[in-house]
Amino acid sequence: MGDTPPVGGDVDGICMGCGVCCDGTMYRTVDVAADDRIELLEVAGLVFSTRDDVTSFRQPCSAFGHGCCSVYDGRPSVCRGYRCLLLRRHEAGEVSRDEARSLIARTVALRDRVRSGLTAYVGTDDLTSLDGLYRRMMAKFEAQPDPAAARREHSDLLLTVVALRVILAREFEPRDSKSHQPDRADEATPTP
Ligand code: SF4
Ligand code: SF4
Repeated sequence: MGDTPPVGGDVDGICMGCGVCCDGTMYRTVDVAADDRIELLEVAGLVFSTRDDVTSFRQPCSAFGHGCCSVYDGRPSVCRGYRCLLLRRHEAGEVSRDEARSLIARTVALRDRVRSGLTAYVGTDDLTSLDGLYRRMMAKFEAQPDPAAARREHSDLLLTVVALRVILAREFEPRDSKSHQPDRADEATPTP
């Protein structure tokens, strides 16, 4: 695994060890451009699908591991241009490197707690975005004889999901970019 950051705009090593824009924490799918060399990315395990003339791959991205992008030189153009809000604020001098790294450490810890809690509850592997796992958990709650009791039983996990969503919305999600695609509302909800 190369020692490379996961996105296009790393500054001061901010992205190293983060990757929440690649690992299914922030996004479910990433759209690629017509001139991206997807055949090279397929070799790395990325699986593409095309709908309404838009080609995309799902997250967690198969090229992401150990905090790095394994196809850094050939990553899609959308990845090259991506800057999360935190990275932009650091570039603008609004957030120091230490502050950014501290925020990333807290976010990654939350991500790990959420992923492991959701994965344990829905009983699946981790090759699904956090949102996909969350939807499966909610569907599983609804399938219980007493959904409210099931939710109460897992209230700590639900609160951790909320905490993660708040930190992502406030600190990471670009206000003006659709370069990585968030949820597709019409995407089929997986069955639990
Ligand atoms: S979410 Fe931001 S800081 Fe983290 S890897 Fe992506 S661009 Fe870098
Ligand atoms: S190709 Fe995958 S791991 Fe690399 S920057 Fe894009 S989403 Fe991240």
